[in-house]
Amino acid sequence: MFKVTPIPIIEDNYAWLVQNQGQNLVFDPGEAAPVIDYLKANDLTLDFMFITHKHWDHVTGIAEVKAAFPDCVVYGTGHHDIPCRDIPLTGGETLEVLGLSWRVWHTPGHTLDHIVFYTETTDAENPSSPNIDNGIKTKPTQGHLFSGDNLFACGCGRMFEGTPEQFEASLASLVALPPSTKIYCTHEYTLANINFSLHIEPNNTYTLHRQDICTELRQQNLPTLPTTVADELKSNPFVRLDQPDVIRAAEHFSGQVLGKKAEVFAIIRKMKDGFQ
Ligand SMILES: [Zn+2]
Repeated sequence: MFKVTPIPIIEDNYAWLVQNQGQNLVFDPGEAAPVIDYLKANDLTLDFMFITHKHWDHVTGIAEVKAAFPDCVVYGTGHHDIPCRDIPLTGGETLEVLGLSWRVWHTPGHTLDHIVFYTETTDAENPSSPNIDNGIKTKPTQGHLFSGDNLFACGCGRMFEGTPEQFEASLASLVALPPSTKIYCTHEYTLANINFSLHIEPNNTYTLHRQDICTELRQQNLPTLPTTVADELKSNPFVRLDQPDVIRAAEHFSGQVLGKKAEVFAIIRKMKDGFQ
């Protein structure tokens, strides 16, 4: 049974735990103790770690978690700052892990080594699934994207190393996934991101609606994640670069006429960096 659980670490990170077919995988353990404690409290072992990029808040716990679960296989980017990595990835790979097929792709922008992981689950046994069509069984699928610090709910990571062209193309490649795709990003930044999104698109009624939902979730100390591709397409200015209000905000800030999406992206990213 496929299950995804956020394990809160550091201040506002989640180390996502994925369980399937009796095996377990953790993403980006930037801190070891909460991950080890959760696994032990639930009588689970750890079989795999997937690491999206080199930053300290994604890699600091790897060695300690590996020491607690020495058989665990660590997949990560090829960057030398990722400790204990068994299998380096550059993007373009397909991995068979937890009985699932995972696509890995390179999404530079936040860092140059950044990769993301995508898998699809099927549930042919689900009695509510419309799985009979002219006698041919179809398998409804659900996509799951683990986006690290690339695509956030209503935002994106800071542009530390990449170019606006790279980052814009990376984000566009992620929101080209099916609209129902669930997106598990690393940070609980959603409410702050929504404030900025409403600064850019004050009349976006979907973002206002989302603000209400996410405010209520945070009041109950619940995660606002996962988000979905559909939610991001409706409310995330970083993937809405062709929308009139987004272009207008960027042109007003920069005092220039902006022709390309990457130019709009660069200005919106700069505005977010200085946004209080
Ligand atoms: Zn990062």
